[in-house]
Amino acid sequence: MRFRVVVLLYCCCFCLLSTGEAHGQANPYHLLAHNIFQQLIEINTTDSTGNVTTAAEAMAQRFRDAGFPASDIQVLGPNDRKKNLVVRLHGTGANKPILLNGHLDVVEARREDWSTDPFQFVDKDDFYYGRGTQDMKSSDAILVTELIHFYVEGYKPDRDLILALTADEEGGSSNGVDWLLRNHRELIDADFVLNPDNGAVDTLDGKPVDVEMDATEKLYADYRLEVTNPGGHSSLPLPDNAIYRLTGALARLQRYQFPFELSAVTRGYFSAMSGIVKGQRSADMKAIVKTPPDAAAEKRLSASPEYNALLRTTCIPTRLDAGHANNALPQRATANVNCRILPGHSREEVRQKLVSILNDPKISVRYVNNAGEVRDVAPDDKGMAPVSLRPDVMQPLQQVVKMMWNVPVVPSMNTGASDAVYTNAAGMPTYGITGVGIDVGDVRAHGRDERVRAQSFYEGLDFYYRFLKALTGTPVTADTPGH
Ligand SMILES: [Zn+2]
Repeated sequence: MRFRVVVLLYCCCFCLLSTGEAHGQANPYHLLAHNIFQQLIEINTTDSTGNVTTAAEAMAQRFRDAGFPASDIQVLGPNDRKKNLVVRLHGTGANKPILLNGHLDVVEARREDWSTDPFQFVDKDDFYYGRGTQDMKSSDAILVTELIHFYVEGYKPDRDLILALTADEEGGSSNGVDWLLRNHRELIDADFVLNPDNGAVDTLDGKPVDVEMDATEKLYADYRLEVTNPGGHSSLPLPDNAIYRLTGALARLQRYQFPFELSAVTRGYFSAMSGIVKGQRSADMKAIVKTPPDAAAEKRLSASPEYNALLRTTCIPTRLDAGHANNALPQRATANVNCRILPGHSREEVRQKLVSILNDPKISVRYVNNAGEVRDVAPDDKGMAPVSLRPDVMQPLQQVVKMMWNVPVVPSMNTGASDAVYTNAAGMPTYGITGVGIDVGDVRAHGRDERVRAQSFYEGLDFYYRFLKALTGTPVTADTPGH
C-alpha cells in the first residue's frame, strides 16, 4: 500500500505540472478531483449515444490504481452500456454502512446548442463548463476523491462507506439504483443514504447564503388523455369534435390550481427562509406558515415557479397529438399531462382528480408508467414521506456548514425527482446533501452551457471530506484541513 501511496502522490505532483495551477490548487487532492472531474465530463454518458459503463470502468480503474482490493470494486448492471460501479471502503464496523449515491448518466446535449463542446471540460473565467458539471459529475468526482483520499491516508471510519455510481437516473430503462436494489441489495445495504443529486448550496457570486438539505421529494406521474370520434369529411363539420373536446378540457385544467398545502418540511423551509430573504418576500413567508395562512401572501409567493412548486401539486400538459389528415375530422386527440405530486397523495388520487377537473366522460385519463406503458389505473403509493431529521446526520451537517460558511441549514423538498425515490422506498432514509454551490439564478442542469464555479467545486470537495469524517466518528474542528 505504501508503494501505491507514493505512486498516487507522484502522479498528482506530475499532474500539478501538467495541468497548471489555474485555481491555485497546490493540494494534490484538489488536483486529483480536478482530473477525475475532467475525465468524467469527457466520457459521454447520455442515453442516446453515450456509455455509462465506460465511466464506471474508468472510476473502477482509479480505485484499483489507489490500491483498493479487487473484491471491494464491482462493475455490474443489466447490459453492456448501463453498468454501475459499487465500491466499499471498510470501516471498523461499529455502525451500519452509509451509502453515497450519485448518477453517472447525463441529459442529452447538442454541440450546436452550446458555446463549447458539451463533452469537453472547458476551464474558462473561473468556471468549469461541460455537460454534467452541475448534474452531477462534480459530486461524483468529489465522492470518488474522498474515498481514495481516506484509503490512502489509512482512515478507518466507524462504519463502511459504500459508493454507488449508477446509470439511468435521467431517463432510459436501466435505472441503476433500482437494479442494484433488486439484484444486489447486499452490496449497497446501508443505515442511510447521502445523495448529492439533491439539496443545494445557494451562493451569490460564489458566496454561500444557505444550505438546503432535501428531506423529501415530489412524486412524478404522467397521464395520457385521449378522446376518440368517428370523424368524417372536414367539409361537413359536426359539433362534436375530438380536438375541441380535448382542448376545452385542457383549458379547464389551465384554470385549475391544486390546493395550497404545507408539510412539516416545507413549513420548516419557509420559516427558515423568511429569515434569509428580505422585504415583502420575507413577510409573505412568515404569513403563509401562520394558522390560518394569509391568502394574499400565498398568491404572491405562488407567482414564483419555484415557490409555487413547493406549495402545491402541479399538473401541466407537455405533449399534444391529434388528427390524421388535413381534410378529415379528427378521429383521435391525445395529450400527455405531467404531474408533480406532493408527498401524502397518490398517483391514482391525482388521476381521479384530473377526471373531475377535465369533466368530460368522453376523455379517458390513463396512467403512463416509467416504461411508457399505459394503464387504466395508477399506483396507490403516496410518495416519499419526509425522512426524519436524525441528530447523527443533522448535527455533523450543521457543524461543518457553520464552520465553513456560517450559514443556516434548511431542510427542503426536491420539486423534481431523483434516485432517492428508490432508496427511500427500500427503507434507507435518503438525505439530499451537496457541497457544491451554485449561484442563485445560474442553475443550468439539463440546459446549455452547464457550468460550475471552480472555487465552489473545491469548497464542495473540502466540505464532503469534513462532513464524512464528522459522520463517521471523527470530531471535526476548525483546524481540520479540508484536504
Ligand atoms: Zn441529477
